[in-house]
Amino acid sequence: MINSSSEELLYNKNMPEYLSLDLLLKKIRVYSPDADLDTLIKAYHFSSEAHCSQKRIEGSPYIKHPLAVAYILADMTMDVSSIVAGLLHDTIEDTGTTTEDIRGIFGKEIAFLVKALTKLSKMEFRTKKEAQAENFRKMILAMSEDIRVIMIKFADRLHNMRTLHHLPENKQQRIANETLEIYAPIVNRLGIGWLKTELEDLSFKALMPDLYDELVRKVAKRKEEQEGYLKELIELINKKISEENLPCEVSGRIKHYYGIYQKMQKQRITFDQVHDVLGLRIQTDSKSNCYAILGIIHSLWTPIPGRFKDYIGVPKSNMYQSLHTTVIGPKGERVEFQIRTKEMHQLAEEGIASHWQYKEKGSIDEKSSQYISWLRDFIKGQKEDSDAMDFLEAVKGEVMLEVVYVFTPKGEIKEMPSGSTPVDFAYTVHTQIGHKCVGARINGKIVPLRYKLKNRDTIEIITSPNHGPSRDWLKFVVTQRAKSRIKQWVKTEEKAQSIELGIKLLEDELRRHGLMSSFLKSDEMLKVAKNFNINSLEELYVAVGFGRISPHQVANRLMPEKHEEETVHPKIQRPIKEQKGITIKGVDNILYHTGKCCYPIPGDSLVGFVTIGKGVTIHRKDCSNLERLSFEEARLVDVDWQSSGDSIALAKLFVETIDKPGILANLSSLISSVNINISHLEATSTQERKGHITFVIEVKDNAQLKSLIHKITQMEGILRVKR
Ligand code: MN
Repeated sequence: MINSSSEELLYNKNMPEYLSLDLLLKKIRVYSPDADLDTLIKAYHFSSEAHCSQKRIEGSPYIKHPLAVAYILADMTMDVSSIVAGLLHDTIEDTGTTTEDIRGIFGKEIAFLVKALTKLSKMEFRTKKEAQAENFRKMILAMSEDIRVIMIKFADRLHNMRTLHHLPENKQQRIANETLEIYAPIVNRLGIGWLKTELEDLSFKALMPDLYDELVRKVAKRKEEQEGYLKELIELINKKISEENLPCEVSGRIKHYYGIYQKMQKQRITFDQVHDVLGLRIQTDSKSNCYAILGIIHSLWTPIPGRFKDYIGVPKSNMYQSLHTTVIGPKGERVEFQIRTKEMHQLAEEGIASHWQYKEKGSIDEKSSQYISWLRDFIKGQKEDSDAMDFLEAVKGEVMLEVVYVFTPKGEIKEMPSGSTPVDFAYTVHTQIGHKCVGARINGKIVPLRYKLKNRDTIEIITSPNHGPSRDWLKFVVTQRAKSRIKQWVKTEEKAQSIELGIKLLEDELRRHGLMSSFLKSDEMLKVAKNFNINSLEELYVAVGFGRISPHQVANRLMPEKHEEETVHPKIQRPIKEQKGITIKGVDNILYHTGKCCYPIPGDSLVGFVTIGKGVTIHRKDCSNLERLSFEEARLVDVDWQSSGDSIALAKLFVETIDKPGILANLSSLISSVNINISHLEATSTQERKGHITFVIEVKDNAQLKSLIHKITQMEGILRVKR
C-alpha cells in the first residue's frame, strides 16, 4: 500500500530504459492528440544530425540527452514548442548551428526558446560563488520572460542529475551543489513537488553518498517494521470514513531522504526521533470533506497539540494546500496525516505545470501567473542593486524563509517571512507606508519597530506624514522589499544632502582663495574632478560632502602653484580664525563646529561627523550621541585637535556640592584664579539639600581642564565633578 519503491529514489516520473522517438511521440499523443508532431520529428532529426560527431561521456550518442530532456518535458505535459526546443537546446552551444538557422527552419518562437537556453548556460566567472549568483539571476530573469525556458532548463538539469554518476567526482560535487542551492529552491517556489524531491535526493546522494545509503537502509527497515501496522490503520480509517459516506482514498507516503536529513539537521535529532518518515495521505473530493475527515481522525485518536497545520485555509506561498495533523495512534505511535483534495494533490506535485496542462501554446492562466508574480515583484525591487551576490542572497532569502501569518486591521491574512518586523510589513502594504512608518500596534498595543511578528498577530501601522526611513532600520528588516526600498531612499537622500554640503564646503574654500563661487561650475573644476577619477561635478560635490575628498585637496589641484609653495613650507599655515589647530584625516581647513552635546576641547579623543550643511561636527569619542550616529560610518572622520597658541574652546562642567552658603562664590573665584573665564553658569539645589552647578567655561585644552577639575575636587563641600 505504500506507494513507490523505497529502495531507489522515489520518482513518480520514470523514464523507459530504451528511449526512442516513437516512445516520445506516443507519450505526447496521450495528452495532446492534435499536436503538430511533424515539427517535432524534424527537430529530432535536425538535432541528431547536428550532434552526430558528439558522444555523451559514457559513450552513447549525444542525441540520447536531448531526447531524454524532451521526454521529461512530455512527462510534464508541456506544449510541443517546448519539447521541440528541448530537442534543440544544446545545438547552438555545442555545434555549428546558429539562432538564424533555427529561426529559418523552426520559426521565431522556438528560436527564442533555444537562444534563451543557450544564454543561460554560457557563462564564465572569476569565482564559483559569483558564477552561482550570476547563474541564479539569469535563471530568474529568463523565468520572468517566458516560464517555458526555465522548465526546459529544469528538464535538462534533471537528466544531467540522473546521469551524474558518469562524471568525474569533482564535477559531480559542483553540479549537485548547484542543484541543491539554486535549482531546488526555485522548483520549490514554483510548487513542482516531484521535481524538487528528485533533484534534492539526487544531489544528496552525490554529495553525501554514505549518509544517503545509510538513510536508504534505515527507511527500508522502518518500512518493513511499520507496513503491517499502517495497513491495519488504513483499513480502519477507510471503514470509519465510508461509514460517514465520504469519498476517500488512503495511501501511505514516505518522506524523501533529503527531507529526513534536513529534519535531523534542523532539529538536531537522530533518525529514530523522526516520526514522520512514514505517514498516511488521504485524498477526497472537496474542501469541506477534508475538514470532515480531519474531524473523524481527531475523534479516533488524540491529536498532538501544535502539530495541526491548516494549509487549506492558509496556503503556503507556493500555493501548496493540505491539512496536516499528527495523532497518537492505537499503539501509542505517532502517525502523521495529510488530508487534501485530488486537485490539491495534483497542485502539490505539478505546481505551476498543472496550470498549462491541456492548454495550447503554453499559455499561462491566472493561477499560474500568481507563481511568477512574486518573481516580477521581486525583480522590480532589485533594479537598484545590480550585484549578483546580493541578488542570490535576496532570492534565497525570499524563497527559503519560514513564514508567519499576520492579520491586517480589516482581518485580511498576510504571509510574512519569519523574523519580519512592522517595518517589513509596512513596506509590503505600500512603499510610502513603509517610508512614513513611525510605529505599530500589535493586537492593540504599541510595539517597537524592531518587534518580531508572531503568528496570528493583528498589526496596524502608525504613520507620520513628515517622517522618513532610517538607515538604522536595515539592521532589523528581513524582507528584500523593505531592504531595497530603504537603501534606495537613504541613498537618494544622502546624495542630495552630500551635494548640498559639498557645494557649501567648496564655496567656503574658494572664498578663502579669493575665488567666486561660480568657479564651482567651471571647466577647471571639472578637470579637477577628472583628476580624482570622478566623472561629473555632481559626483565631486558628493565626494566632498561625504568627506572622501577635502575641499583643501580640491583647491590644491585647482591651483597647483600654490600647492607647491605649501609643500616647500609645510609649517606655514594660513591664518584662519576658526581653525584652531583642528585636522581631519591629516587635512586642515575643514569647516567644523563642536558638538553642543559633549563640548569637546583640544586634547580630547575626538571623532568628526560630517553634518549636512554644517561641515564637520566634532564630538568626544565618549559622547553618547555618537552611538546614534556611528551606524553611518561613511560620515565619520578621524579628528585631531591640538591646542595652538591662544585658542580657546568651551567646556561644560557639572559640579555637585553640599548645599551650603558661599560654596558657589568659592567655586567661581577658584575658577577665575586660574585664569579661566566662565561664560555661563546655572545653579539649583535639590530636595536632598545638594547643590547642582553647571559651568560653561573657556579653556585651552584638556590638560588645563583636568588640572581645574583636580583643584575643584579638593575643595571643601564638593561631592562630585564631571564633564
Ligand atoms: Mn543539455
